Amino acid sequence: MLNLVLILFLIIFVVCYWRWDDIRNHFWQKKYLNNSLNVQQKNLLLKYMPIYRKMTDADREKLERHIVWFLNEKRFIGCDGLKLNDAMKLIVAADACVLVLNKPWPLYRNVKEILLYPSAYYAPQTSRDNAGLVSYHNTVRQGESWPGGTLVLSWHDVLEGNRLPSDGHNLVFHEFAHQLDQETGKTTGTPLLSSNEDYQKWAKVFSRAFNQLKTHLAYGMPHVIHSYGATNEAEFFAVITETFLEKPAELRQFDPEIYHLLVGFYQFDPIAWH
Ligand SMILES: [Zn+2]
Repeated sequence: MLNLVLILFLIIFVVCYWRWDDIRNHFWQKKYLNNSLNVQQKNLLLKYMPIYRKMTDADREKLERHIVWFLNEKRFIGCDGLKLNDAMKLIVAADACVLVLNKPWPLYRNVKEILLYPSAYYAPQTSRDNAGLVSYHNTVRQGESWPGGTLVLSWHDVLEGNRLPSDGHNLVFHEFAHQLDQETGKTTGTPLLSSNEDYQKWAKVFSRAFNQLKTHLAYGMPHVIHSYGATNEAEFFAVITETFLEKPAELRQFDPEIYHLLVGFYQFDPIAWH
């Protein structure tokens, strides 16, 4: 009898361990189903988040539920002397949750913590030249997204992203797009998709648009996507996400094919919010 109980316990333990993400997300979905922000939080978003102001009531309610979940389940850490307050966390959470507004759970399956610096910060970098010589130096950064689930953000740039909602730059959109990309276990510019057909279509449209940006830059021709997007495919995905959310009409006019690819991936059309 004792052996049977032990085996049963072991089976339950293995199943729970194996399916922990699913179990946790199921629990979260139920726990945060009816949660909403308080009046003070809503007023803060109305003041500081232009997209929130333009959303339909239904979208806003959904976003608020995601924000409450995010604020409760993700860790925020102030760095370099930055004293965090609830408003800072709220704005970061709100911007991050826009990207997953209509995504099925689990949302941001890997994100664990957000490190906030007061402004752009120095990060150590190691590089190796062709002769194998290694050099160490510091680079100035506004943000980073690590595959292990840590994001680093400059608070100054988070605010600027919301203050200028149509300039194609939003640090939170950029770094959290990297997190969506990194859910595959790699940082390639191709996030998790539903089917083989979706991957084939993504590869075709995405590489055509990426190469087009590089060609435009090489010939000094104007492009709706910021030149940083030409760095590599992963940066292209992060930068085009910023463009999609901040300059949707221009992107749709410039490249309707990639615009509709992104509407399909994010499952919303941001033109309604501008
Ligand atoms: Zn980036």
